[in-house]
Amino acid sequence: RSMSSVTVPPPACLLRPLEAPLRYLFGPGPSNVPPRVLAAGGRPIIGHLHPEMYGIMNDIKKGIQYAFQTENKMTISMSGSGHAAMECAVFNAVEPGESVLVAVNGIWGERVAEIAERMGANVHKMVKAPGGYFTNKEIEQAVEKHKPVLFFLTHGESSAGLCHPMDGIGDICRKHNCLFLVDTVASLGAAPIYMDKQSIDILYTGSQKALNAPPGTAPISFNERACQKMFNRKTKPVSYLFDMTHLSNYWGCDGKPARAVYVSFNPCVSLQGLEESWRKHKEVSGYLQRGLEDLGLKLFIPERDLRLPSVTTIAIPEGYDWREMLVYIMKNHQMEMTGGLGPSIGMVMRIGLMGYNCEKTNADMALQALADALKNCKKTRG
Ligand code: PMP
Repeated sequence: RSMSSVTVPPPACLLRPLEAPLRYLFGPGPSNVPPRVLAAGGRPIIGHLHPEMYGIMNDIKKGIQYAFQTENKMTISMSGSGHAAMECAVFNAVEPGESVLVAVNGIWGERVAEIAERMGANVHKMVKAPGGYFTNKEIEQAVEKHKPVLFFLTHGESSAGLCHPMDGIGDICRKHNCLFLVDTVASLGAAPIYMDKQSIDILYTGSQKALNAPPGTAPISFNERACQKMFNRKTKPVSYLFDMTHLSNYWGCDGKPARAVYVSFNPCVSLQGLEESWRKHKEVSGYLQRGLEDLGLKLFIPERDLRLPSVTTIAIPEGYDWREMLVYIMKNHQMEMTGGLGPSIGMVMRIGLMGYNCEKTNADMALQALADALKNCKKTRG
């Protein structure tokens, strides 16, 4: 018997079959994906330099341009989750010491503020409670005061369930020579956004929400103004991996041939078309909201028009422990719903019906599960 040279034995757990139970992913993402997308994940691996790969990348780029409603050449999909695109946007557009203005009305503004602080930007926050929104006047006043090079706003604030109005903000930023950065991770495909028409300079999203792909790739696009700023920097971005001078070359955005890319999946940009997808999310979320009110639950966002059509938030009903309800629903209905995130923890429960999951039959299932939890999780008081 020869002595083994390895000191760490092979883990027994790797010999067990992979366990991935079927769950109804009715939280704020990831969502269930259609069989066609699941099947795409089983296709053979091809090399990153093969001609077919460039074809796939070009198709992905066209799909993103359509989904973003932009003609920007600098349109790619990052390897990584939505957070990768958040960091990519900030790292490339901002240099240390520059002023950045962040609208914070939930966790996503908080995160972007922290990302910008970590890379040494001079960060100014406009803060509202979760579910709050900013008027164009408030935004213009803050832009005038802080003179930022970048203003960040979340379109679909998934921690609070708010869909922020977008009109006119891009023009304000343009007037004050500031780039407008918008997060649409939780809203793209569910609520209308028009990158070019709304003068958004940098826009990103995630793959695992209404776009119906698995997590792991994050589409992002930069317009000419953003490219002017980020390719005329004095300092190099703090991240090598996320440096757009490399990424734009990988994706063939800089006129030179594309070199390499690491993309897990083709984000399946809505088979049904954007307008139909927006219509359906509005219809199904309206249906869900009525059902929730019929159960006696209170919607967290009072203004109907500002409710995010992909993620619906309800105020935690009195006399209940939200954690217990969520555990009950998972255990008895194999269904994921979630609590709040960041500043909305303890304030809301969240139900996401997006992309493939956006169906009235799923809304009915979610409502039944909630009704069951309301019946069985009530705390005896006194
Ligand atoms: N922004 C928003 C609005 C989100 O909803 C999320 C994900 N919940 C993210 C950013 C971060 O994306 P990821 O989890 O893919 O990193």
